[in-house]
Amino acid sequence: MSEPTNEFEMAQRQFDQVAELLKLDPQVRDILRWPLREFSFRIPVRMDDGTIRIFQGFRVQHNDVRGPNKGGIRMHPAETLDMVRALATWMTWKCAVVDIPLGGGKGGVIVDPATLSTGEKERLVRGWVQQMWKNIGPRQDVPAPDVGTNPQMMGWMMDEYSKLVGQYTPGVITGKPLGGGGSQGRTEATGYGVIYTVREAMKHLKLDSTQCTAAIQGFGNVAQYAAIGFIEQLGGKVVCVSYWDREDRASYTVTKNDGIDPHFLMKITDQYGSIDKTKAKAAGYLIEDGNAWISKDVDVMIPAALGGQVNGESVHKISQKVKIIAEGANGPTTPDADVVIKERGIFLVPDFLCNAGGVTVSYFEGVQNDMNFYWTKDEVLTKLDTKMTEAFNAVLDMSIKEKVYMRDAAYMVSIARVVKAMQLRGWI
Ligand code: NAD
Repeated sequence: MSEPTNEFEMAQRQFDQVAELLKLDPQVRDILRWPLREFSFRIPVRMDDGTIRIFQGFRVQHNDVRGPNKGGIRMHPAETLDMVRALATWMTWKCAVVDIPLGGGKGGVIVDPATLSTGEKERLVRGWVQQMWKNIGPRQDVPAPDVGTNPQMMGWMMDEYSKLVGQYTPGVITGKPLGGGGSQGRTEATGYGVIYTVREAMKHLKLDSTQCTAAIQGFGNVAQYAAIGFIEQLGGKVVCVSYWDREDRASYTVTKNDGIDPHFLMKITDQYGSIDKTKAKAAGYLIEDGNAWISKDVDVMIPAALGGQVNGESVHKISQKVKIIAEGANGPTTPDADVVIKERGIFLVPDFLCNAGGVTVSYFEGVQNDMNFYWTKDEVLTKLDTKMTEAFNAVLDMSIKEKVYMRDAAYMVSIARVVKAMQLRGWI
């Protein structure tokens, strides 16, 4: 079969394969292959120089049978409706696999936010809400930050929505700043969530975590807390992280064979996850080629940067020692690489299970907003651990029972939960 031409085609193909395994009815497949609702709209924004610029915005609501749609808003110059559709579909499966009562959504704007002033960004996100406010809300669809958007923007969007509906409504959006309706633990959530699943995978494989080493790709939000968690919670050693150097326009692997210190590296890393390699070198770190992380002799690999990094070519560089691949990033493994990983019997924690910690704490944020009562960081992270552990075990049980790869098992658990909700509500 030819390679899919875009992400949405890939999302549909992944669904089709599992629909076949689950022997789903054609009508059920027809509902789940496509988003239930799609919005495409123009956002006029007054620029600082007094001119008006028109931006293209999107929101896709894939499926809300299990609860309000949930998913981020991306700002990217190459954003497309198909990309937003794919990501909304994956959000449905991600929320279902961690069993939180939410559906799948995603939004976007075609823009490079780095070209906008602070005031222009504020007017753009307020404009997005003005177009969408009748179709979002704590009981309809709850956006969040994503590529190119941040907590401050979520604060402005919550304010705009609250003004339009005439009442303070923090639960309309998550990923808000702390003190502005945000939740403790959101910063750590995705990286720590990755580590909770790695811990469970190690238990299953009977590995002693204190004797294990890891190589991590990336050093942004997910990778930083995955590194801290691997060292401080599991007692293991992280031998390298990698990053994209914006000045050199090249990627590097930052290595220390006796173990990196993520707290030190965070001090010399900018807001985009770019490490100051001169300072790292001065502190005794080895600066290697950006691809070096993939061939390290480690027990665990955590791709936590970009999609498509473990592909048909790079998969052959993975050391024979590797026992676990935990997908912190979305879509880091291509279908060709999946075949090799499966054959080699490397234990895979698939992306929409592995990195579901972020959306889980976003759900907790909405719950706290509803109660108007806020939990401590410890309470949030304990609840997160419970959710991630239960989700991991549900997928592992399915994988053992049906003798399927962990990625297929995760899809089977999620799709079965969504289909069951459709049956219970009488949709099918
Ligand atoms: P981020 O922007 O904070 O960090 C990305 C990191 O990847 C940076 O350190 C950057 O330098 C590095 N990088 C970029 N290109 C690289 C390359 N070619 N080689 C090596 N490193 C490179 O992003 P993040 O929030 O940490 O997200 C990372 C991944 O996890 C993305 O795929 C994202 O979609 C996914 N994810 C994030 C969250 C979350 O809550 N942050 C939740 C779910 C999934």
